[in-house]
Amino acid sequence: MDKVSSMRQELIEQLFPSEPAYRRKQRERAFFDAKIDGWAGITTLPKLERQTLQDKVPWISHQLAKLITSDIDDTTKALLQTLDGMYFETVLLPNARGAWTICVSSQIGCAMGCRFCATGAMDFKRNLTVDEIADQYRFWQQHLVKKLGNTERISNVVFMGMGEPLANYENIKAAILTWLENTDLGPTHIIVSTVGLLTKLEEILIDATWPPVRLAISLHSADSVERQKIVPSSTPDFLTKLADWSHRYAVNLGNRRLYLTFEYTLIAGVNDSLREARVLADYMMTTAVRKINLIPCNPIDGGDLAGSDSNNILAFEKILLARGIDATRRRSFGGDIQAACGQLAGSAS
Ligand code: SAH
Ligand code: SF4
Repeated sequence: MDKVSSMRQELIEQLFPSEPAYRRKQRERAFFDAKIDGWAGITTLPKLERQTLQDKVPWISHQLAKLITSDIDDTTKALLQTLDGMYFETVLLPNARGAWTICVSSQIGCAMGCRFCATGAMDFKRNLTVDEIADQYRFWQQHLVKKLGNTERISNVVFMGMGEPLANYENIKAAILTWLENTDLGPTHIIVSTVGLLTKLEEILIDATWPPVRLAISLHSADSVERQKIVPSSTPDFLTKLADWSHRYAVNLGNRRLYLTFEYTLIAGVNDSLREARVLADYMMTTAVRKINLIPCNPIDGGDLAGSDSNNILAFEKILLARGIDATRRRSFGGDIQAACGQLAGSAS
């Protein structure tokens, strides 16, 4: 099991070994208060403690290295530098509710190596810590306050940035629990997107402290051989096991079973044929999942894969709809700044 590493909390415990539990709560509340942007601003803490914290403990676990905003749709991508000098990306997107969605990273690089993904083309560097994950929310909250004032709100968080969140299970779980406790985000406004790590999906079924967030499973093909070609971490029995898992998950979820969806990146000439659409529809009938998000593949630097054209996507979608499957197409944001799904990589250049 990964160690849940909040360097901030460990440092504070060393500095104030016998502090009462409510102090921790006061601090954590203040971390997510948009009006407070430094230790000095937590006036509920004694002055001496604020001074010590300011001298010894970083207020946030990363600093901004570069910010780019899209010319077409207000999507903003930030390159963040961690305290140990590594880089990763995080994205802010306007959403239909007049609020903001943040697309957060869970790892630097990714070991899964999906063929169409810029993060997968990088080496896996390391898991992000709880602080580094939770602080992406704080980073964007401060950004919004400085840019647009106090009325802006982050209403959704999606784990669709860099990395495989379930490969960093304990840390993403702790970050989610921190948000749920200290912000107005509800669990159904958080989506954990996963390539489908079966051992971790099984763990969710028996983990009483796993929060009731939405899960999106990145399927990309319902043909086992084809899936393995584009998702190298896949195994020959993945699809069967996933279908079986989905039924047990749906039983656990009861009315919330709709919070489970598939994602399917459509790659021209690779997984977008009408045959693949029929195989997918057949497969979905064996699962408890009735909803699928179709994402045209975004091009990545140096990659040779392209997104399906719109006629193809429509024909693919039509086959699914005709079988009663709730298929939706995801609009892509931030394509001009390499901030769309799968385009995040993170380099200082
Ligand atoms: N590792 C997780 C979450 C990060 S990727 C996962 O794979 O689900 C988030 C989403 O972006 C996934 O659905 C992934 O398949 C998709 N994606 C990756 N590369 C893409 C690309 N080039 N174009 C479109 N979607 C892509
Ligand atoms: Fe990793 Fe997801 Fe990219 Fe696959 S799509 S390489 S699992 S980040």
